[in-house]
Amino acid sequence: MDVLSIYSSPVIEFTATQPLERQNALVDNCTGTDPPPANADKLTETHTKKQVATQTEHICSSESADYDERALAKWLRQIYPLVELELSQPTPLMDEQCSECSLQEQLQVHTYQKLSLHSMENSQGLASWLCVHTNNAPVLVVTTVAPHDDWCEHVEQQLQLYVPERMSQGSYVVYTLSKSVPLKSCLRSLTTNGFNKNIFAGASMDGELFVWTYEQATMDVQQLHNVSTAQGAAVALDWSTEQQLLVGYTNGVVQQWQLGQQMTLEWQYTLPATVAAELTTMLSLGLDDLVLGTNDGGVYRCWSTAPQVSTDKTNKQFQLLPLRRHRFMVSSLLRTQLNGQQLVISCDLSGQAYYHDMRHEDEDTAQLIVQIPLPFKNSIACSRDGNIIYCPSSDGALEYYRVGDGAQAHVKGVLRGRGNLIRLSDNGCWLITGLYGNEFQIFYIENNLAAN
Ligand SMILES: [Zn+2]
Repeated sequence: MDVLSIYSSPVIEFTATQPLERQNALVDNCTGTDPPPANADKLTETHTKKQVATQTEHICSSESADYDERALAKWLRQIYPLVELELSQPTPLMDEQCSECSLQEQLQVHTYQKLSLHSMENSQGLASWLCVHTNNAPVLVVTTVAPHDDWCEHVEQQLQLYVPERMSQGSYVVYTLSKSVPLKSCLRSLTTNGFNKNIFAGASMDGELFVWTYEQATMDVQQLHNVSTAQGAAVALDWSTEQQLLVGYTNGVVQQWQLGQQMTLEWQYTLPATVAAELTTMLSLGLDDLVLGTNDGGVYRCWSTAPQVSTDKTNKQFQLLPLRRHRFMVSSLLRTQLNGQQLVISCDLSGQAYYHDMRHEDEDTAQLIVQIPLPFKNSIACSRDGNIIYCPSSDGALEYYRVGDGAQAHVKGVLRGRGNLIRLSDNGCWLITGLYGNEFQIFYIENNLAAN
């Protein structure tokens, strides 16, 4: 665990391209379709130029020294058509354009392949990248989640394994369905074991936990473990170690399961009643060290340095440190590194992202706040260096954003509907978004600069 120390560094803020009150008024992702800001910015630029001209005139007239009013009027008459011409055809905002094209030069994102799944109307998608199979392309597992009012009665769901197959010509791969695993209910969450990417876990709507393994030789999926819990559907899964699975539930319960011959409950922690909010997302930072996000914007770090004294498995004790809180539901928590430091990014439904430096106790003096100027914020992915944020947009489009200079780029979508899932492969080369209708969109990312 990192040692906490009091240390202050300046807050770097990126100003919003939209007025703040717009963000305040945002109640859910449906209203988050901000218009592109480019026109507004150009108008502002035009205004500035006009005022520069006025100011020049003003400064001249205020200098009571020797000047010829007629000569000035003549000069203004000569210059005015040129100024007017320039105002009617404003020069593009050079800085913005350059940074945007350089972002697109740095990262070329291509729509690559669509995956169609049989699904009910208004389903959502879950996906997770596994180990790399060929040409830098990882194996992929996907499933759909039907809309739920109450109990899950979808007894014919499937988990599908897609393996990238090399085409006979060129260096392309095609994702091909290799295996369908029947599920007796929809999954609520799905995650790959970061310590062994052949292993992945899923939590079902009816409270079951599954651990599967992908077998490279046979391109098959086998179930390793399956346990029932009394807590309902787990909203968040993550791995503390190769053998320890963290499971988070809406009611504020977090469990750690040990994988061995059997899958056994190691401990259970319950958020204190003072938090009084639903758990929405969770991230492991190591053994007995995690970060939780809640539906009222809370972000909490929970950790323990001493071994558990109590023998009561269901009463794990953690120290709880509230981190800087959001105004809206925390939709994503991501681990990243910026300039070699381990950070946690939290993002809320308004698109505000905080970079929490885990070495600092006093958050107010030590963090980066980023207002992501993207139209859709309930899910983000970020590059390993923390500098690029990807966000799914409507109709299969993709937005990406460079934190360092605020440059943005857009990849046109070819699907219909609104996706809310985005997953970036660990090598930074592949993205999947969905679900659009009954389709996922795979993107391929070419990074023309340093390793992502
Ligand atoms: Zn269901």
